[in-house]
Amino acid sequence: MADAVRTVLRGAKVFDGSGAPVRTADVCFEGDRIVSVEEGSAEAGAAQRFDLADCCILPGLFQSHFHSGFGHFGSGTQAPMLGLEAPTALLAMLAVHNAGTALDAGVTSLIGSSNPDYLDVNLREAILHGYAEGPRIWAGSHELTASGAQEDGENRSWFMRLGNHGVVWKLDGADAFRRATREELGRGCDVIKVALGPGHGASPAEERCNLTDAELEAVVETAHDRGRFVRAHAPSKRAILASVRIGVDIIDHADRIDAECIDAVVASGAAVCPTGLWNKRFLEFAENWDTASQGPMPIGDGFPETPDETARRIRGVRADYEHSVEMLPELVRAGIPLLAGDDFGTPLLPHGDYVAELETYVKDFGIEASEVLLFATRNPARTMRCGDSLGQVAAGFQADLLVVEGDPSNDIGALRRVRAVIQSGRVVRGAL
Ligand SMILES: [Zn+2]
Repeated sequence: MADAVRTVLRGAKVFDGSGAPVRTADVCFEGDRIVSVEEGSAEAGAAQRFDLADCCILPGLFQSHFHSGFGHFGSGTQAPMLGLEAPTALLAMLAVHNAGTALDAGVTSLIGSSNPDYLDVNLREAILHGYAEGPRIWAGSHELTASGAQEDGENRSWFMRLGNHGVVWKLDGADAFRRATREELGRGCDVIKVALGPGHGASPAEERCNLTDAELEAVVETAHDRGRFVRAHAPSKRAILASVRIGVDIIDHADRIDAECIDAVVASGAAVCPTGLWNKRFLEFAENWDTASQGPMPIGDGFPETPDETARRIRGVRADYEHSVEMLPELVRAGIPLLAGDDFGTPLLPHGDYVAELETYVKDFGIEASEVLLFATRNPARTMRCGDSLGQVAAGFQADLLVVEGDPSNDIGALRRVRAVIQSGRVVRGAL
């Protein structure tokens, strides 16, 4: 329970998440709610005062593309598909660890992407029971995909007869997608993830969409009918346009987005989660890999390839990345809500390295730090229809606050200097 003592944080810079510039103000909260944000505010009745003149107070951050069960199993077995690296019990403990790591970084809200065995749902329940500490969670589903799609772990490993184990649930036909969506929602998922086609990750986008319109419509109708959300792995233009046409809420990656897509996304009101750090890290790794001396590139699509094919694949990923670097500022100018979050937990992106993604949007994509901070605060809160209670430092909002040393609206790297993390009015990390 939050302490019902009225607390005032005095003299800090405040990035309030409304889009307004940083200002100096006192933030007063009581219980789990913010009471006021004003210059020289409601000191009356405040039992606790903390002077934070060298700090900045922000809304607790969102990670909007979170894989709770991703981690690096250095000495483990080579899994044919994600979610099968280790027994579920071990993955669940990893998920608890990842949730704690997120809290360390000031992340107080998570929007799940895909995960195996309902890890997100159970993680949320463990936190509710007090068995674990972690952010509030919108639980992601399995990754719903079509047979033979890139995510289908049985493409290369068909002889293992994996079926629907691991992170992927493969389906065919609108009825199958509708039934799977109903089951995922019934088991507690909030965000249904669908995989619409190749691209992002380790290979360039291909202009196709793995689901038919009828299949995707079945998912979106079912989820929306129950007040839940749909997110789509959509690297290609065709997948982006299908997503907005049918009403997907969060478009992941969107590597091939162009002017036509931007207009369509704006009209639909969807958010885009670009996950820009993965591409950068993957290209740093892949372009420095020498197949002649080091052997085949270890991150691929599961099938063996010649050195020429590998080189072509990497060039394709580079082209998609350069395109997205060019386009992202256009998305911001068009007013599309962008969300921060990436494939943390994959080998090149350890959980906890969340600030690096935000730094990439500033340094490599050329977007103002004050705008990038909205990717992790106001934008995701609005996308999840909680824009009136989360994602801003304002009277009446949830007292989810991040206190850092310095001013991240000028120097985004200041987010690494966490002084304290407050969740629902309780200091859960650091000290004031
Ligand atoms: Zn992902």
